[in-house]
Amino acid sequence: MTNTQDGDGAGRAAGIRSAWMPGFYKLTMDERVARIARAFELSRDEVASLHASGALPREVADRMVENAIGTMEIPLGLGLNFLINGREYAVPMAVEEPSVLAAVSFAAKAARAAGGFTAEADPQWMTAQIQVARYGDAGRARERVLEARDELLALADSLHPSLVARGGGARDVEVRVLPSPDGGEDVFVVHLHVDVQDAMGANLVNTVAEGVAPLVEALTGGRVYLRILTNLADRRLARARCEIPVAEMADRGASGDDVCEGVVQASRFADADPHRAATHNKGIMNGVDPVVIATGNDWRAVEAGAHAFAARSGRYSPLATWRRVDEFLEGTIELPLALGTVGGTLRVHPAARLALRLLGNPSAGKLAAIAAATGLASNLAALRALATDGIQRGHMGLHARSVAVAAGAPMHLVDRVAAMIVEAREITFDGATRALATVAGAAAALTDVVTGESHDLAHVGSHGR
Ligand code: NAD
Repeated sequence: MTNTQDGDGAGRAAGIRSAWMPGFYKLTMDERVARIARAFELSRDEVASLHASGALPREVADRMVENAIGTMEIPLGLGLNFLINGREYAVPMAVEEPSVLAAVSFAAKAARAAGGFTAEADPQWMTAQIQVARYGDAGRARERVLEARDELLALADSLHPSLVARGGGARDVEVRVLPSPDGGEDVFVVHLHVDVQDAMGANLVNTVAEGVAPLVEALTGGRVYLRILTNLADRRLARARCEIPVAEMADRGASGDDVCEGVVQASRFADADPHRAATHNKGIMNGVDPVVIATGNDWRAVEAGAHAFAARSGRYSPLATWRRVDEFLEGTIELPLALGTVGGTLRVHPAARLALRLLGNPSAGKLAAIAAATGLASNLAALRALATDGIQRGHMGLHARSVAVAAGAPMHLVDRVAAMIVEAREITFDGATRALATVAGAAAALTDVVTGESHDLAHVGSHGR
């Protein structure tokens, strides 16, 4: 995308002479903004955008991270039509990519025809990793750790009595001796699995990892350096499944059989080729991440877990697959989803709390199941589009509105400019600038223009219904 600036400061790349700003974190947020406004020579509009507050109050943001200077809003929308385990959901999704909400809503509608999605999640086990160096004889060290299983579990539980009182706590101990990566000693790792209930669990598990490390050292005679959770939360998988009647897949002249065949071929392609699997999984995360973000969860943790899981066989593979079974297209997805509905930091965000409320304040497991179903829906919508006209038609049609905004179209002209560049098949910044000039020039016809509606955009938008 080209330059999106307007007004003062247009096109000027901001920069500072030195990013060395000791004590920045000690300033108030307003003082920080004033300081960087001077340092970067920010325009009045740019400063105002930092002072603006959306659903996340600036004071809360200031308590969440160091060096805060503002908040960054992204759209929060609803993925509609979801029927998951027989229950209706309008799924809150925070996402900037234009086509995602329309796409998942379309796919969820198609899935309703055969009862929607079934989805479930494992118990919420997270895993602490404690790496031991200089342990001597690996067999003996392993034996001593496993013999002390009960002692390790009890010690871990003593660190989180309230978690134990809620029904969670340490569940199991595992020892893994991994082949040396460099000719030195093999890598010796103790895994301690903890049921974290409704928390995401990173902090809970890290406390456990650090708390049991001295006992692990005493047992093995070795030295512990690394002690932290793994984001490959493969004891905490979520699964979803749907069956779409083949006839439901018919699309604009293409038969249901043909579209189904295209989706199945796309699934085979992703199974065979990591290059394709990466994009296939990106389409899945288009559905998962917005739910993760809207509910105040740690999307980096989810992304890391999903992709590591996708590569677990040694070859990067698709997280969801599709096959035809009689008169149905059957989709299944499985991925780790370490999501919390309590604790964490982003969940203090009022919009995240509202998102959880819109979902009926689910347990962590239910939330994971919902996110898995949303990922499967997003995957289906992308594959269906790819199997028919390609994704550009719907995508670029919706993208056109962002391009129109970027070209400086005032809000009341955005749809009109977007419609013009879609019709002209010129969805670019330059195309939008020209369209805007035409529209703005036709001042006499402005009233008509404002109320006019594009046939093409209406069609694109209909995916979401
Ligand atoms: P947390 O520290 O807030 O712990 C959860 C809290 O919720 C605990 O105090 C627990 O007692 C309480 N709680 C209340 N009701 C509960 C229930 N029903 N079930 C379980 N706990 C309940 O948060 P956390 O979930 O341990 O850690 C999540 C945070 O850790 C996220 O902000 C994440 O970004 C961050 N983090 C992630 C990583 C990583 O992924 N690698 C590393 C470090 C920190």
